[in-house]
Amino acid sequence: MTGNQLNNRLNLNAQSARYRKTGDWYHPLVSFPAILFDQNGYVRFETEFEYSTHPQIQFGQDIHINGGIQTFPSYTEFTTEENIIVDLLRKDYESALRVLREYSTYRRNQSLVLQVKEIFNNSCALCETTIQISENKYYSEVHHIKPLYENGPDDMDNMICVCPNCHVKLDLKLIRIDIPIQYNPNNHFINQDFIDYHNNNVA
Ligand SMILES: [Zn+2]
Repeated sequence: MTGNQLNNRLNLNAQSARYRKTGDWYHPLVSFPAILFDQNGYVRFETEFEYSTHPQIQFGQDIHINGGIQTFPSYTEFTTEENIIVDLLRKDYESALRVLREYSTYRRNQSLVLQVKEIFNNSCALCETTIQISENKYYSEVHHIKPLYENGPDDMDNMICVCPNCHVKLDLKLIRIDIPIQYNPNNHFINQDFIDYHNNNVA
């Protein structure tokens, strides 16, 4: 994971960005606004002046910060939403999944979830798997194509019915969603913008 990747995925619009887990040394920043990241957050410098006169930075061939950037008054911790993206970028998949499942459970309209499952007859839109758990009872899950934590809407055109296997792969952005969706029995309308968003962020 690099500072530039973080800067891009978190939409922070810096001209240069550096990442170091410990936050205590970096290669110098070259263009501004600029950002230094550590594993839990970041500091932002709007101007070169703000950076080059910062009392907590020791300048040399590299820059050093005693105690790390987390000691800066301007240090900003990642939000819950940002943390999910950061965990995915650093491939901490277990943490990313745990947080994002908890995050979306309380933010989704459960009646829409049930409607989507019904539209798809509980079959996975990607692999067509159906999991029967008893007579006339099926298990399925619903995926938000553009995730809620990335400001995806909790709307039907952003939702597909999936099996647990495909759901994990989608959440971890390990697989693309290719059109046409393999299984869409009632021609459920899916917004192509959300599919493009997903595919652009596949690892
Ligand atoms: Zn599947």
